[in-house]
Amino acid sequence: MNSTIQQNLEAVRSRISAAAQDCGRSPEEVTLLAVSKTKPVSAIEEAMAAGQRVFGENYVQEGVSKIQHFAQTPHGAELEWHFIGPLQSNKSRLVAEHFDWIHTIDRVKIAQRLSEQRPAECAPLNVLIQINISDESSKSGIELSELDALAAQVAEMPNLRLRGLMAIPAPEEDPAKQKAVFEQMKQAFLAVKTQYPHIDTLSMGMTHDMAAAITAGSTLVRIGTAIFGARDYGTTS
Ligand SMILES: *Cc1c(COP(=O)(O)O)cnc(C)c1O
Repeated sequence: MNSTIQQNLEAVRSRISAAAQDCGRSPEEVTLLAVSKTKPVSAIEEAMAAGQRVFGENYVQEGVSKIQHFAQTPHGAELEWHFIGPLQSNKSRLVAEHFDWIHTIDRVKIAQRLSEQRPAECAPLNVLIQINISDESSKSGIELSELDALAAQVAEMPNLRLRGLMAIPAPEEDPAKQKAVFEQMKQAFLAVKTQYPHIDTLSMGMTHDMAAAITAGSTLVRIGTAIFGARDYGTTS
């Protein structure tokens, strides 16, 4: 088992490099976020042994307990934790206190709470605004037409640092269609970047569509299944 996650990580890194090189980008422009939701601490340890330091979690309590566990371990301080799930207001404090990034900002109120709750001794929380680019069945994310207004408000918040945009497109098998949706995100990203030049992160691409996302300009892919295997939701709430 030990080598499986390591081999998977190596394979994912090669896929990222190949996709980047195919479109003339440098592989270093694409951060690999290892999505460890539902997976045990031992799986994260295996990924760490293979050099992975950036992890994503979807569920607040599960993520916080992993963060607290690794804080006590030798390489814990090197880890960077991204919250990538939907966030309810009543759990915002835990995210503000423990995570380094959140990808799912979709309303002013949650951003305000996170900024107020971010501990003074912590660096600003890095935030991405989530865009509902193609998934009409999902309530997560804002419409592109709402982006300018939300970005302007988030950019003013003292304990947040607006870093870019995130999207979870509706599942799509056809790479050309995947790419068309990602291209829309890229255009939106470039448009906000003209107003906030420090913005540097376009979070898009998962196991089934990472190549199309990278071709379209993703700077961070969120990969779970290809690294850790299929998830079993049987015992998680
Ligand atoms: C679970 C999840 C992922 C990882 O998806 P895989 O298909 O397993 O790579 C990426 N992003 C978000 C927001 C997720 O919830």
